[in-house]
Amino acid sequence: MNSESSKCLCGSVNITATKINPKFTVCHCETCRTWGGGPLFAVQCGTDIKIEGEDKVKVYESSPWASRGFCSECGTHLFYRLNKTGEYNMPVGMFPTLKNLEMTMQYFSDKRPDYYCFSNETEEMTEADIHTYFASQL
Ligand SMILES: [Zn+2]
Ligand SMILES: [Zn+2]
Repeated sequence: MNSESSKCLCGSVNITATKINPKFTVCHCETCRTWGGGPLFAVQCGTDIKIEGEDKVKVYESSPWASRGFCSECGTHLFYRLNKTGEYNMPVGMFPTLKNLEMTMQYFSDKRPDYYCFSNETEEMTEADIHTYFASQL
């Protein structure tokens, strides 16, 4: 677990995360690719997050179970937050000095378009796998 601070491009928003898991995930779903222009590379940061400049953070409810936050001044994508647990996933790129980064999971692997492909060997979950997993969590 790592503790890191980061800020958006314009510096209005500062975020400190004290429990970052360096094993990061990639999401190929259409929402992530529409949001960011490509797959979302995210580290799990838990709930211990400090945000300064929160008045500049705009939150969009992208699904019934999660919302996405971005800086309303510069547009930097800040987090993906699960409604139920309040857990934050944050873009890997926000933490350039993070050590021991390792791509371990690709979500919605069946939604990946055929114009890119990673050679990293990771676990994968398809849309059906994810629905089965979340159904078992209820
Ligand atoms: Zn900003
Ligand atoms: Zn996604």
